[in-house]
Amino acid sequence: MSSPRNLPKRLPHLIGGELTESVSGAEFEVLEPASNTVYTTAAAGRSEDVDKAVRAARAAFTEGPWPGMAARDRARILYRIGEAVEAREERLAELESFDSGLPITQARGQARRAAENFRFFGDLIVGLHEEAYSVPGTQLNYVLRKPAGVAGLITPWNTPFMLESWKLAPALAAGCTVVLKPAEFTPLSASLWSDIFAEAGLPDGVFNLVNGIGEEAGQALVDHPDVPLISFTGETTTGKTIMRRAAEHLKGLSMELGGKSPVVVFADADLDAALDSAVFGVFSLNGERCTAGSRVLVQRERYAEFAARFAERASRVVVGPPHDPATEVGALVHPEHYERVLGYVELGKREATLLAGGARPEHLATGNYLTPTVFGDVGPDARIFNEEIFGPVVGLTPFDTEEEAIRLANDVSYGLAGYVWTSDLRRGHRVAGAIEAGMVWLNSHNIRDLRTPFGGVKSSGVGHEGGWRSIDFYAPEHVVHVSL
Ligand code: NAD
Repeated sequence: MSSPRNLPKRLPHLIGGELTESVSGAEFEVLEPASNTVYTTAAAGRSEDVDKAVRAARAAFTEGPWPGMAARDRARILYRIGEAVEAREERLAELESFDSGLPITQARGQARRAAENFRFFGDLIVGLHEEAYSVPGTQLNYVLRKPAGVAGLITPWNTPFMLESWKLAPALAAGCTVVLKPAEFTPLSASLWSDIFAEAGLPDGVFNLVNGIGEEAGQALVDHPDVPLISFTGETTTGKTIMRRAAEHLKGLSMELGGKSPVVVFADADLDAALDSAVFGVFSLNGERCTAGSRVLVQRERYAEFAARFAERASRVVVGPPHDPATEVGALVHPEHYERVLGYVELGKREATLLAGGARPEHLATGNYLTPTVFGDVGPDARIFNEEIFGPVVGLTPFDTEEEAIRLANDVSYGLAGYVWTSDLRRGHRVAGAIEAGMVWLNSHNIRDLRTPFGGVKSSGVGHEGGWRSIDFYAPEHVVHVSL
């Protein structure tokens, strides 16, 4: 194990600008996944802590300057947050890699991406226009946006800091105050926010953080009557629980949930590009990526060639300690998650043909390591075809016709992302349009413009964020009708 210097001995809450312990004194242990040893403890928030945080956020909303500030002034602070995030690039990378098991080279991009979220939403809020409709001589109708109040933000353990920034930036830009509940597997990087926000001049109480277990702290946030919005990213089953409980208060919800995204490779595709993209799409970020292309559908003429090359590429992926710059797949986030992924690997061995991986690497006796795993001839009834595994595990399935490819692509409950590879552009557009997913990449992957909608359909989510859609969520429209 290689630990970053000066690891915090304790991860407290941040409430009203103060680092705070839980009222009950409760705590939980935090593991690092390369050796599964406890390296720190975090305050375990419960309903009384969430209540304190919501009261602080509510006071900052009703009495503080933040919601009423000119958009330009909020944007200035958002830019400063972006700079403060970027200035911590190396520190963030080492903490994120250590706590979540991400390869250090992949953790290094996270600060730039998070900083960009703040700059982007700073720009967006300044440029946002409000509408007016006039009926000459009779009426003027104008539409304002009002920040909704205290936004509850509940986030997962994969790329935790970056995903927190994806909610924090639009919520703050819109003028909301927030209570963030980071994932309990990976609370370390969120401890950077308090200094970042203080350095940027964000008023105390605008940002509050409560650490804790989902069923306690997360649930208390969902149940709190003074939190009108919940933006949640996590598993579909958790999302369903949150929707049921949030119904009690008819809360506004943004739900970014799980995925089982198809990669459709036609025989006329640039096979090298498709292969590079499919290998990257499922093995980068340890395969713990919501948009991972975890089902690769390949047209039968090229299936055998593609499968052999994919398996060969997978067997060359370097699995190693997260801090090692040579590592391409690090340690999976937590022993509980590791066991779950291994369970799917064993299931896959019964349901399909193992082409690569499927075991702990011989040179790594402890820690949550798995060799990149490829299954071939995965049928549409297999559980590994249908269920999200969220690790470096992929299934390949042959198809004959375009219709069959579309049917297979859509034959799961999820609908987050999809990828299409073909040199026939008309077919590419046709298939991209027919895939039931919030986002489809055609002959490309991963890159997107932050103005575009991000989110899924079916079991992958409700509501989209990205660009003005995020502002719509955090600052709903309000119309005034004036008779002339
Ligand atoms: P999870 O659902 O277990 O936990 C997510 C968060 O919810 C954590 O902070 C957790 O503490 C909290 N939580 C758990 N139970 C809760 C409850 N009853 N009430 C309130 N909060 C509760 O998810 P995870 O395992 O941390 O993350 C992995 C999942 O997230 C995968 O399914 C992945 O696909 C999904 N994900 C989706 C996107 C997307 O944009 N669609 C992005 C990243 C991850």
